[in-house]
Amino acid sequence: MTHGRRWIRTSLSWLVLLAGACISACNGSAHSTTGSLQRVASAPLPPADQSLVVQFLGAGGVYLRQGDQALLGDPFFSNPPLSHWIFGRPLQVKADVIDAHLPPMNGVQGILVGHGHFDHALDVPYIAGKLPDSVRVYGSETIPNLFAAILPAARLVDLTPHMAVAGEGGQWVYLSPRLRILPIQSQHSPHVGDVVFASDRITHPLSRAPAAMFDWQAGTNLTFVIDFLDAAQQVKFRVFYQSSASPDTVGFPPDWLLADNIPVDLALLCAANYNHVDGYPEGILKALKPRQVMLIHWERFWDDYSTETATPLPGMDFADLEARIRSVLEPSVPVWLPMRGGSIQLEH
Ligand SMILES: [Zn+2]
Repeated sequence: MTHGRRWIRTSLSWLVLLAGACISACNGSAHSTTGSLQRVASAPLPPADQSLVVQFLGAGGVYLRQGDQALLGDPFFSNPPLSHWIFGRPLQVKADVIDAHLPPMNGVQGILVGHGHFDHALDVPYIAGKLPDSVRVYGSETIPNLFAAILPAARLVDLTPHMAVAGEGGQWVYLSPRLRILPIQSQHSPHVGDVVFASDRITHPLSRAPAAMFDWQAGTNLTFVIDFLDAAQQVKFRVFYQSSASPDTVGFPPDWLLADNIPVDLALLCAANYNHVDGYPEGILKALKPRQVMLIHWERFWDDYSTETATPLPGMDFADLEARIRSVLEPSVPVWLPMRGGSIQLEH
């Protein structure tokens, strides 16, 4: 399909999606109660000396800190307006918004990118530019190719050779002696029907910076297990991070990891399009048995960035999502629904 035809088809699909979203919102599903989901307002970050602090940044973005070790995943603040992506305009990085809301960058050991869509990757080069050259950006092969004209090759890591696939294999990648990640091959939930927009893999380095929506191709999706380690290399905190919903068993940790008896302290789960894939999030929750859950990517990422207000994504039904979660998890397991800038503190 030519770029032009694909653009027209996708633009029409978005219009259909938004029309459906309006109907859904009018029916009230976008304003469902949050029941046992615990809202978290934006607030200054608590200390993370012995605890793990996890902050929701907006869309699939998260910030994790334990002691002097920190990590960013899919940091995204620019929130380009809907008209810019639908009409193929260049998507702008809003440096002033990022600078106003970016958490402390000291101790950040790396930036993880789950896939190449703009709401996961647009702001990554600007943020990487604020970090020392030794701090690298990690993703599937599409990510280094997407950023080839913007960031030095030495700062870009293709995790493809290290991925666990279909419950097997995978290797730890150490960001520092105290922080390691396990990348896992996953999938992107469809936007409409069985269609995932901009889902190509980018297999060669781009010669120019990505600009319009269709430059931001997803490539292979990744989920991650993130381990914060103590001085004796024992796991202090384990986090599962998924910034796009996937069908049951796809993107799950490999069997060898699920069998190592180290508890999952926190599951960071994508709420967007949760009902476009089978068995989500019941399957992954059953497999992980997490001590706590944080729901991310639940809000409209085309509204101006705000830590005060956010509107749920079209079709987001929190009551239904909660029921799915509670069909697997005991009521005593906290499930957090943070505002942008909201954080939780995990203790041992
Ligand atoms: Zn995406």
